[in-house]
Amino acid sequence: MDFGLKGKAALVTGAARGIGKAEALALAGEGCAIAINDIDAAEAEKTVAELREAGVQAVTAIGDVSEPEGAERVVAAAAAALGGLAILVNNAGAGGRHLGARAEDMAIDDFDIILRTHLRSTFLCSKYAVPVMRAAGFGRIVNTSSMNVTGGGRPGVTNYSAAKAGVLGFTRTLAKEVGAGGITVNAIAPGYVETDLIAGFSPEKRAVVTGQNPLGRFCQPEEVGALIAFLCSTQAAFINGALICMDGGKRDFHWGDA
Ligand code: NAD
Repeated sequence: MDFGLKGKAALVTGAARGIGKAEALALAGEGCAIAINDIDAAEAEKTVAELREAGVQAVTAIGDVSEPEGAERVVAAAAAALGGLAILVNNAGAGGRHLGARAEDMAIDDFDIILRTHLRSTFLCSKYAVPVMRAAGFGRIVNTSSMNVTGGGRPGVTNYSAAKAGVLGFTRTLAKEVGAGGITVNAIAPGYVETDLIAGFSPEKRAVVTGQNPLGRFCQPEEVGALIAFLCSTQAAFINGALICMDGGKRDFHWGDA
């Protein structure tokens, strides 16, 4: 199937590695020109080199998209380098040491950092990308929520769950604001995807995820990439304001002592 994406310019945030990189590769596979955003310039350069070796038009757009100046500069740089911006995938995310504490013990900075990285970045990049898309009469924005919203997160991630619920609310309302301009806005809710973000999971936690999922495994980044390519396609033009779950059929895990 031809997704109608040949020559379209796409910016993926947090795309140096993990899910974002897989999303960029999938969009490149459909003929998109790609801007790789990340705060990790060295890793982003490697991803761009990989894309160029495959004959893809690719550039880096380095910057912190959770800050207004960074997001504005990243969107402008991507649009300038690629001659427009048809696709924005808001994927940048952080977890690690900012997760794990229950709300009563959570450092206020950890709450704020997670909200900024996941939610404020989504707002900021969308804010700066929409005018470019509206001028062209076409746009696809895909935001990254989580099964923490559909199933409830494990204890210790109230900040992450709040951010991802915010992403979903933002998505549904933005979809109403910009739909008439030929721009669709959707969110995805992946289950556990095998990336650096969950590399710190103990063997016990990994066993909970694979043991309780009907498919008995983690999701792979490439599977999320394929979903993104479809949501950005011309065939997906009537999917707007939706939350697409990709969790293998399991949203709420019983953690026990894991
Ligand atoms: P990852 O840690 O492997 O990659 C995230 C990337 O985002 C990193 O390269 C990081 O440098 C970059 N980044 C962080 N803050 C940034 C900022 N302010 N500006 C620009 N770039 C920034 O993570 P991942 O597992 O690939 O997750 C990607 C997205 O998918 C996140 O939004 C995450 O919450 C979401 N998600 C992940 C899973 C999972 O199980 N891995 C499940 C559901 C949703």
